[in-house]
Amino acid sequence: MTRTLEYAESVIDTVREPLISLDQDLRVVSASRSFYKVFKVKPEETVGQLIYDLGNKVEHVFSTIGRRIMLLNARQIIREKGKERIILLAIEDITARKKIEAGLEKTRKELAIIKKTADEASEFAESIINTVREPLISLDQDLRVVTVSRSFYDFFKVKPEETVGQLIYDLGNKQWDIPKLRELLETILPQHTTFDDYEVEHVFSTIGRRIMLLNARQIIRKTGKERIILLAIEDITTQKEMEREIIRVAYHDHLTGLPNRMLLIDRFNMAMRQAERNRTKVALMMLDLDKFKEVNDTLGHHVGDILLQSVAKNMTAILRKGDTVGRFGGDEFVFVLSGQKNVQNALAVARKIIEIFQKAIVCDGHIVTITSSIGIAYYPDNGADIDTILKKADSAMYQAKQAGRNQYCLYNQD
Ligand code: GH3
Ligand code: MG
Repeated sequence: MTRTLEYAESVIDTVREPLISLDQDLRVVSASRSFYKVFKVKPEETVGQLIYDLGNKVEHVFSTIGRRIMLLNARQIIREKGKERIILLAIEDITARKKIEAGLEKTRKELAIIKKTADEASEFAESIINTVREPLISLDQDLRVVTVSRSFYDFFKVKPEETVGQLIYDLGNKQWDIPKLRELLETILPQHTTFDDYEVEHVFSTIGRRIMLLNARQIIRKTGKERIILLAIEDITTQKEMEREIIRVAYHDHLTGLPNRMLLIDRFNMAMRQAERNRTKVALMMLDLDKFKEVNDTLGHHVGDILLQSVAKNMTAILRKGDTVGRFGGDEFVFVLSGQKNVQNALAVARKIIEIFQKAIVCDGHIVTITSSIGIAYYPDNGADIDTILKKADSAMYQAKQAGRNQYCLYNQD
């Protein structure tokens, strides 16, 4: 019986949605800590108060937190003795769903009011599980499924009859055999009773790629089977993909898709630190197209753009893994070659680049030949920081232009 109590509390402790329970007169019996946090109300102004205007979708302007759109998910627990019914509300703030940071924390004292008998507690646990929107699953010590929430079935498109009693990894035709999940269940959880915000990315055959945050609780029981693991699953796919897209856009040139100046500087700094550790060098090659303006002037800016894209592709193709080429701006490209033992390798790469520029490129039906001038400088030989190295590479590139273009030049003091 205490097992179900523990279980109910763990559920509340694990999910992030604000929860509130009401008695038959629609007065608040208890609210979870996250409820107070999200709605910025105090327990003394909440417990015993009436709740009005409940509907499935509620839009309301709170004086404390402004306009919120919420989804209310309600369950009634009909009791045989005592007060006739308890209404359990899970409130999902869909205004800024992802901003609700706090996990739902138990308020033991308030809970005690509700769960007077073990029967009630058991109903309570079941109701919580079916009320919250976060998919929930509980496992026994052999990692076999004990309970699954409705939202779990809905979200993961797994059939109820395929779950209970199954090994979690076998769910949905072994779609759940995920190495990171195994690590959580078999390595992390035996050492920690709770573990939050464990990120798992997986491609499910039914619902595609998902990025999930798992919040896990382990309930150690005194009697019977030794432990129950409770997993609440938060789907953060959209949020994560948006974040990734923002990062990608911020660090890449939109015309060529190559790393931009910011990312190049970052890569160079990384390569510099690695070179320090390994006593190697970093080559920085600055490349500028020769007479690129003429392409724009004779064939149009549009053809110039296509030429920049083709050049970017050709240069990427010859790079080693770990090296970077990016667009620095205009018709200027920068190569960062890491882990160089001597200057020979960069010179070889420069020769290769000059060589690939000898081939004509077809741009929008026009056959264009373009050459490039390259300046090379080295860390640590020519400077101790990126600004100095860039300046030296730029001056070497200028020398290559002066010497007639279509060639490379290694920086030297003279
Ligand atoms: P040089 O051999 O001295 O480098 O001659 P250049 O004609 O290439 O002159 P420069 O490198 O100074 O000029 C680069 C030109 O690239 C200037 C600008 O009009 C053009 N440009 C810059 N960004 C873009 C772009 O995104 N698309 C196109 N089509 N042209 C661009
Ligand atoms: Mg140029």
